[in-house]
Amino acid sequence: MHHIERHRTTHIGWLRASVLGANDGLISTASLVVGVAASGVPRSAVLISGVAGLVAGTMSMAAGEYVSVSSQADTEAADLARERRELATDEEAERAELAAIYVDRGLTPPLAAQVAEQLMAKDALEAHARDELGLSDTTAARPLQAALASAVSFAVGALLPVVISAVVPRALLAVLVTTSTLALLGVLGAVAARVGGAIMWRGAFRVTFWGALAMGLSALVGRLFGATV
Ligand SMILES: [Zn+2]
Repeated sequence: MHHIERHRTTHIGWLRASVLGANDGLISTASLVVGVAASGVPRSAVLISGVAGLVAGTMSMAAGEYVSVSSQADTEAADLARERRELATDEEAERAELAAIYVDRGLTPPLAAQVAEQLMAKDALEAHARDELGLSDTTAARPLQAALASAVSFAVGALLPVVISAVVPRALLAVLVTTSTLALLGVLGAVAARVGGAIMWRGAFRVTFWGALAMGLSALVGRLFGATV
């Protein structure tokens, strides 16, 4: 039972991050497209801004994720290096420290000492990394993987307003981008809520509300700009 649960938790984390990334792509690119469309420029200009927004957003998500997860990886590497040093200089104290962690978790002191002894005999650094620092293979920071996942989910979300603005009649572009974006946001919001064990309609309402606000304000600014510039 414990093994299956851990895997599901890992998948939930990835799914939620992907849905949130897609939300970002959808809201920011749709707002850009609706804003530029509201200024009255021809479809080609709307399409160019949509594609530029998709590429710029995708790259900034990738860069942001890579930088933040890399600094997490740096911290983890520094912690592991310090742990390795401590194990090399004072193994006895490290064994006592590990045993104390197991006592805190409910083992009797003799059993805790025995467990610490055996786990350190097998792989001391791994035992300390896992039980003292909370680091393990499944939680290790992977900057490139995280950046890629973030970029792909953003791009997938951003694709909808770009494709719609490429195929629908110019006169219906703003309305169809807005309605299709709100519909997809509702679905994504409900999915994210469901995956996280929360109420689906509330998740859907929350993200469509902010999506509508973002697109509405962008359209307003686009209209004002179109009228004055
Ligand atoms: Zn330690």
